[in-house]
Amino acid sequence: MADNITWHHGKVTREDRVKLFGKKNKVFWFTGLSGSGKSTIAVEFEKRLHEQGHPTFILDGDNVRHGLNKNLGFSPEDREENIRRVAEVVKLFYDAGVTVLVCFISPYRNDREYARSLIGDDFVEVYVKCSLETCEERDPKGLYKKVRKGEIRGFTGVDAPYEEPTCPEVTIVSDIVGVDESVSACMDLL
Ligand code: ADP
Repeated sequence: MADNITWHHGKVTREDRVKLFGKKNKVFWFTGLSGSGKSTIAVEFEKRLHEQGHPTFILDGDNVRHGLNKNLGFSPEDREENIRRVAEVVKLFYDAGVTVLVCFISPYRNDREYARSLIGDDFVEVYVKCSLETCEERDPKGLYKKVRKGEIRGFTGVDAPYEEPTCPEVTIVSDIVGVDESVSACMDLL
């Protein structure tokens, strides 16, 4: 870390922003296998929040890897750095008073706990639980097909680990539960 840097405090706090918006904000961290439904659920959830007047923003794994994190790959070290940067960005949005929906596989428990530690009580871990078989059947981006052909290595749930959350605020079993019901389960935690 660089020396000689000091935090410069502003005169407007997160609480002031929340008061201005009239909506308490939280961070919803969606974790789960590729194809489990994180983005699909988050997009519908955001629509519902927006309709109710909440300032919102979605941070999506693939999108962030196009820009901020485009220099990172999928090694364990890069995955950790990916989530560390995302967690810091999430914290900025949170301090801005925005409800943030975060859609990242985020396979490591420690990395998710790091994000939780930055946010505190307003961190809501949403485990989108889905069997590998179902994810593979859906294969919305054709990635599992590539994995089975040997074109992708180190894919979460196949030949890279996914560490299940130990006590998520909510678990959505997306093999069984539909998108509308999943959104309602998230709304209940607002
Ligand atoms: P992820 O963001 O977790 O990689 P996506 O949301 O991109 O997953 O893809 C999930 C796919 O599964 C989408 O094509 C979606 O329409 C489909 N799907 C089917 N049933 C569900 C469900 N119950 N919840 C979420 N997605 C579902």
